[in-house]
Amino acid sequence: MHRRCVLPFFLAGLLGLLSGCGETPTGRSQLALVPGPLMADMGADAFDQLRNTQPISRDAQANRLVQCVAEKIVAGAEASYPGLDFPERWEVVLFDEPSPNAFALPGGRIGVHSGLLQVAETPAQLAAVMGHEVAHVLADHGNERLTQQLGIKAVLLVVGLLGEGEFGNQQLMQALGVGAQLGISLPFSRTHEEEADLMGVEIMARAGFDPQQSVALWQNMAAAGSSQPPEFLSTHPAHESRIRVLQEALEEANATYRTVTPAQC
Ligand SMILES: [Zn+2]
Repeated sequence: MHRRCVLPFFLAGLLGLLSGCGETPTGRSQLALVPGPLMADMGADAFDQLRNTQPISRDAQANRLVQCVAEKIVAGAEASYPGLDFPERWEVVLFDEPSPNAFALPGGRIGVHSGLLQVAETPAQLAAVMGHEVAHVLADHGNERLTQQLGIKAVLLVVGLLGEGEFGNQQLMQALGVGAQLGISLPFSRTHEEEADLMGVEIMARAGFDPQQSVALWQNMAAAGSSQPPEFLSTHPAHESRIRVLQEALEEANATYRTVTPAQC
């Protein structure tokens, strides 16, 4: 092996020790090699790009609803997973975009499409989607996927290129699970979806939203039957199997919900 090849592998091992080999909040072992602050910077950049290029909703009532639900979901997430690092501040934007979708990015950015409000019939149904999306961030799924996609050597390259703007934005957007409107979205894996579901129902319950409403939301989604499924439906074959996986988590979430004050949004 040439000497110049040894160094990256050594550094990769070092990086892995520093930040990569850990467990998700549900206890699944995970390889996520990109440093957290870098993920947060990239999430913020991707969000700024969307905000500067996509129309933003001026519907005051809808904006109030989305801000209210997001605020409670963030508080619910912090109460559910007190040991995790949380962004100091979360930013929430309602995009004027007809597809029923939502996303959350590292660094505390949450985007909701106005089309989601046509499918989510109650604040609790909106909370179900937001809880799921925030769970993707808390479980570091974007980092795990970026690590898988790029490989260890490329992660090192990305770290090295920080600030030079040469890293492909498309690949980043894919890894973060956004950009459906640009036709570049790649679904999170089934494992990530199930984990986000399990964490999401607990978060929404802790936030004061009836977790049973998550089932109603997925049924509405299935009935709406969009040709391009939104992020949180993309890798689930059927809502029946999703509900089956969730039964146990729903029982726990129901117990949590009975101990908190119901949310008003
Ligand atoms: Zn998802």
